[in-house]
Amino acid sequence: MTTGIDERRTGIYVHIPFCQRKCLYCDFLSAPAGEDVKKAYMDALTREIRFCGEKGTEADTVFIGGGTPSTVDPSALSGVFDEIYRVFRVSPEAEITIEANPGTLSYDKLKMYRRMGINRLSLGLQSTDDNELKVLGRIHTFDDFLESFDLARKAGFDNINLDLMFALPGQTREGWGRTLRQAAALKPEHISAYSLIVEEGTPFAKMELDLPDEDTEYRMYDDTADILKEYGFHRYEISNYATLGRECRHNSSYWTGKDYIGFGISAASLRHGRRYSVTDDLQEYIRNADDRDLLLENVQTLTQKDKMEEFMFLGLRMTKGVEKEEFQRRFGHGMEEVYGSVLMKYTNLGLLAQEDGRVFLTDRGIHVSNRVMADFLLDEGDLYD
Ligand code: SF4
Repeated sequence: MTTGIDERRTGIYVHIPFCQRKCLYCDFLSAPAGEDVKKAYMDALTREIRFCGEKGTEADTVFIGGGTPSTVDPSALSGVFDEIYRVFRVSPEAEITIEANPGTLSYDKLKMYRRMGINRLSLGLQSTDDNELKVLGRIHTFDDFLESFDLARKAGFDNINLDLMFALPGQTREGWGRTLRQAAALKPEHISAYSLIVEEGTPFAKMELDLPDEDTEYRMYDDTADILKEYGFHRYEISNYATLGRECRHNSSYWTGKDYIGFGISAASLRHGRRYSVTDDLQEYIRNADDRDLLLENVQTLTQKDKMEEFMFLGLRMTKGVEKEEFQRRFGHGMEEVYGSVLMKYTNLGLLAQEDGRVFLTDRGIHVSNRVMADFLLDEGDLYD
């Protein structure tokens, strides 16, 4: 039986855990740091990549995420890229993304990124309303963003994502609609739009926030697809919208179960049927970067059951859903055989639809996607080898 996954190819994720200042809602592994720490970390990253044992593996996507990767010295980043190009065979058509925040970019920096081969920029805008940006604790204004966006276009970036966030404190449907229209009118190629989640341990969790009610949030989500459609975007994943052909290839590979290797603290990998992550201890990381065996934690060899579950609940995040034939090819069992009763239950409820051999969430199903996906977890007793 073939797995259907080409393990000679991989995506690469590189985590840069530094930010200029911590946003009030953020629970990512990121923090401000001095130049010495950043330098030691970037040096450790190059060593981790050099000794990762993947010499000659083909890479078709690279994603530099964080944190705010644009807060590190571009020459240090260039060193990391040199190492990536030395170890991996980065395909000439590779999608190479860097995340950046408005207010941390200059024309020269963006030009240097282009010279490193970076061809996609992901800008954290979140809102076009300066009051909302202030409430979120963002470091930039909408004008700062406009300047960065313009510089990026001038530096040659023709593939730009904007990150937006809705259900913000004090935000109305009209306000969210304004943000969407102002952002879309700039004609980026891609927009990610997530609702604010108040995470434990963040300053927001300790504050009295005037958040939109559930019904308003539900409508804001529907408004997102409707408004962005007017500007030529289609939803291809629960929270992601793109113009034709500009879907993010790197993130799509997560949802379709392709291999990826994560470098840097806390970065996750899926490689040769195993999931694992790098330590989240910065000092330990810097000390042991030459020896991946000492860095890797939470190593889990995926069973057939794990792979089937992931195929379903990651694949269903995408609007095109999952293909029955592909399931059969990968697992040697029919999707109906394994998930027949769940498929029938949610199809009858109008939360799943089936068409041309594909299964996907309906618009109503997307709103309760967590509930639907949880039902695709198999019981331990269900053995499918
Ligand atoms: S810029 Fe992004 S990663 Fe950094 S603190 Fe803000 S939300 Fe978190």
